[in-house]
Amino acid sequence: MSAATENDIRRFFADLNLDSVGPNLFIGHVERVPFRLETVVNEQTIGLLFQTPFSASKKEVPEFPVVREGTLLHQLIAEKKAELSTGNDIVWFNLFAAHELIDDGVLMQTLNEFAAVLKEYFDFDNQVCFACKAATAKQPVFHSEKLHMICDGCFERLNQKAVALTSIDPANVIVATLWAFVAALAGGAIWAIGWLLFDKIFAGRKFFILLIMLAFIAMAIAVAWPISLVFKKIPRRGIRLAKFMTIATCVLTAIVGEILFSAFVTTRYVGTWNPRILWAVWKLVMIESGNLYLLGKIICLFSLCAFALDWSKPKTNLEEEIWGQVRQ
Ligand SMILES: [Zn+2]
Repeated sequence: MSAATENDIRRFFADLNLDSVGPNLFIGHVERVPFRLETVVNEQTIGLLFQTPFSASKKEVPEFPVVREGTLLHQLIAEKKAELSTGNDIVWFNLFAAHELIDDGVLMQTLNEFAAVLKEYFDFDNQVCFACKAATAKQPVFHSEKLHMICDGCFERLNQKAVALTSIDPANVIVATLWAFVAALAGGAIWAIGWLLFDKIFAGRKFFILLIMLAFIAMAIAVAWPISLVFKKIPRRGIRLAKFMTIATCVLTAIVGEILFSAFVTTRYVGTWNPRILWAVWKLVMIESGNLYLLGKIICLFSLCAFALDWSKPKTNLEEEIWGQVRQ
């Protein structure tokens, strides 16, 4: 891409007051029409994908809003370089060859025409709040990959909640720690059973490496399940702490699992529960079983952390976030 083009893109971004909300994702507005913008940039082309949510319309909204003939936008749609459609309370507007418009200096003109078409159908000064469905929506917020328009009151509540969520309550930490131990015990038992099964199935036989790797991942999934179940229920205060505790619980689970596993082997073949013998047996199993086995335990632990972190993420929608209680 030429330096001139890069400068043009920068100017265009400044003109639209874009706020970055993620990789290649922005929110902004043109002539009071709000939008979420996703950019697709490669060596050959620049694609701009806009989404504008709406809650109330002045007249019936067709699947393809009418674009006046003779406008540049009309021509671009005819040439299949642009697409304008509606569905699910969102206007979808795609510019597939935005680099050409930037080169010709007509990108802003196109966007102004887009805004003009939308204003035929919607009054963007008079949209209903997405969260309370009552007050006039004035504030754009980005949530669950989408742009939502909410009222000043809901916006304030959302910000207060955000502050509350980052603070840490010591009572919560104690409760979370206790639950972490419960999760580690349950997960550890599954871990131990998993590795005993693994020995039964795979030891002494030849298998494809891929199959063995899948077995490691399957084991991680089985162990991550009780952990994520527990952490999903735990209050969401102190997001960073919750992440740290989830990982700590996974490590603890692996340690508990290894102790239970060695205990089973020791009780069965040596007939004692002596910690020193347990430790010796564990080291012996590790050395005797070879690199693949050791690698398996590491893979298992890492996938366990990844699954537990992902699954324990609370999945809420914006209304819940604003109107639901911050759980204590
Ligand atoms: Zn509201």
